[in-house]
Amino acid sequence: MKVKLTVIILPLFLAALAVLRPAPIAETETGNLEVIALDPGQDLNTLRLNFPLDPLLADGLKVYFLVERKYLEAIRESGYVFTIETGRFEKQKEKSLRLKADGAGGLNGAYHSYRELAAELRSLAASYPVLARLYVPGRSLENRNIYALKISDNPALREDEPGIALLGGHHAREWISVEVPLLIGRYLLENYHRDNRVRDLVNSAEIWIVPLVNPDGLEYSILNYRLWRKNRRLNQDGSYGVDLNRNYSYQWAYDDIGSSSKPSSAVFRGTGPFSEPETEGIRKLFHNHRMSAAISYHSFSQLILYPWGYLDQPTEDEALLRSLAEDMAGLISRVNGRVYQTGRAASSLYLTNGDFADWAYGFFRIPVFTIELPPVDLLRGGFLNSESDIEPIFQENLPAALYLIERVVASYTSSGARAVPFFRRELEKKRESMVKDRPGAAFKGKESR
Ligand SMILES: [Zn+2]
Repeated sequence: MKVKLTVIILPLFLAALAVLRPAPIAETETGNLEVIALDPGQDLNTLRLNFPLDPLLADGLKVYFLVERKYLEAIRESGYVFTIETGRFEKQKEKSLRLKADGAGGLNGAYHSYRELAAELRSLAASYPVLARLYVPGRSLENRNIYALKISDNPALREDEPGIALLGGHHAREWISVEVPLLIGRYLLENYHRDNRVRDLVNSAEIWIVPLVNPDGLEYSILNYRLWRKNRRLNQDGSYGVDLNRNYSYQWAYDDIGSSSKPSSAVFRGTGPFSEPETEGIRKLFHNHRMSAAISYHSFSQLILYPWGYLDQPTEDEALLRSLAEDMAGLISRVNGRVYQTGRAASSLYLTNGDFADWAYGFFRIPVFTIELPPVDLLRGGFLNSESDIEPIFQENLPAALYLIERVVASYTSSGARAVPFFRRELEKKRESMVKDRPGAAFKGKESR
């Protein structure tokens, strides 16, 4: 998400801050978090790219970040003027920790931990053996499974049907993005026998539910530091984490705005495209199974984004992508009245290179959307959705996902060779502009500006 300089009020800032846990970053011996406040007139984007800062809130006058104490001096030396505001929030912090410790359901409440998710996926596959099959296209650095639940009639067979992938949990702290694809999958299975529309879609498509691309990061977010974003790679400089949504191959490292070469950055792209086993698992899944569309769920901002993300230019398919996004936004708003803005990723949110959506579109030429789930801004909680948010956010996203599956099924032309459902084109002619989908290939894009 982006640092939005929306005007907000202090109590909500306190609420967001209250998830702070003492000594949260285990890899830093002297590590301790501070809250710093900066004047938004400074170049905060560059600051964020150069230091592992987590944006908390903006109140119109100041922008607040969480940062490890050890970076304070370097930030100051880089010319940034800030004040340390940590002390103002100690009380809220303690109060919140007491509440959490007393609460039931674990630290993450109704949200799924890796273990809980694994158990639920296994249980769904076991309960619906005729409709679902659990795959593990990859494993994480810490050896957790990247699960992909395939939902279709004859799930053990590879049929001539379009694949649609629903992904979540690229970013550790975006817990709601795990729940939405999982609940959509569960809905399809539970309603197959009672809803003709669901049955038709499941019979004529292969729906892949991949709720948690970054299991190590999620566990770290639950147990150590709620606002963790990246995976848990130990980088060469001693910092941790690669931003998995900057680690895909298409236009990887295109510039240093849409991702960072600095390991400590929150948007560190990794040492090469698909350097991380988590993204490699997704790459395998897409190469082994024909996908015709995909949605990658994130939070927050209430946006439906389509490529490109690396460059603020339209794709050749912009008109179609825009109309699909607008249709989905219309369906979403009808459920709870919430508005999701639509737009090209690069112009709507911020530049990103090496993200999943650019890769899936750029390499496979399929419609791909990044849906930034609620809330709309930090005022309403940022990454910190409540447990009671899960159901309404799932409910509003369900019709949009069903609609996309339906459109893909309707436009799917089966062919013995290779069907290119939405974007039928002469791939040969495009070959030189397509990147090689292989780590280490020479397609690092332009030198940074
Ligand atoms: Zn995200």
